[in-house]
Amino acid sequence: MARKILALTFDDGPHPDTTLPILDLLSEYHAAATFFVLGEHITAQTEPILRRALQQGCELCSHSFSHPDMTQLTAAEICAEISETEKRIEAAAGVLPRFFRPPYIAVNDAMFRLIPLPFIAGYGVRDYDDAVSAEARIRGVLQKAADGRIILLHDLAGNTQTVAALREILPALQKKGYAFVTVSQLFSEKGIVPQPHQKILYSYAEQTAMYADDL
Ligand SMILES: [Zn+2]
Repeated sequence: MARKILALTFDDGPHPDTTLPILDLLSEYHAAATFFVLGEHITAQTEPILRRALQQGCELCSHSFSHPDMTQLTAAEICAEISETEKRIEAAAGVLPRFFRPPYIAVNDAMFRLIPLPFIAGYGVRDYDDAVSAEARIRGVLQKAADGRIILLHDLAGNTQTVAALREILPALQKKGYAFVTVSQLFSEKGIVPQPHQKILYSYAEQTAMYADDL
């Protein structure tokens, strides 16, 4: 029988104070994850973090350049958000992003038409909100974990509660038999080839409707 897999994903980094402890934890548990980075956060200071993530078997993807609500942008602005982020990821780490996560999970037809990458959402626990405790984040992720799903977390600056939650989440899910893979590996192990321009916001590998139920 195939193994149970999950794709842990982290948005809004890289930030030294959160991304580095997350990478330490991933390494401790031999886990891979996917980082949906913001182009504007890739600087001389943070480039080594991206290279380390890759060396650990993690994947680097795009979350736009400046985190705008892209449904309000012109076509030229949408394309610039994507291409500038691609350039910085490639310059920093020598790879191109294979997936895109829209800021605020806000999408429209123009974005689906213009952005040549599959769109990724995921099962989140509102971990961008300081009022959501580490315990609630742990409980939420354990409830939402299921084979083939994408989990949406944030390596936002100062997000120590998600780092603390991850310290419990990784061993708890490992004990339940989950392996942690990148988004690319998740689709590949499930035999799915996600295509761009499909108007699907993938939260699990086999999804065919725009939104996953049970989010
Ligand atoms: Zn974000």
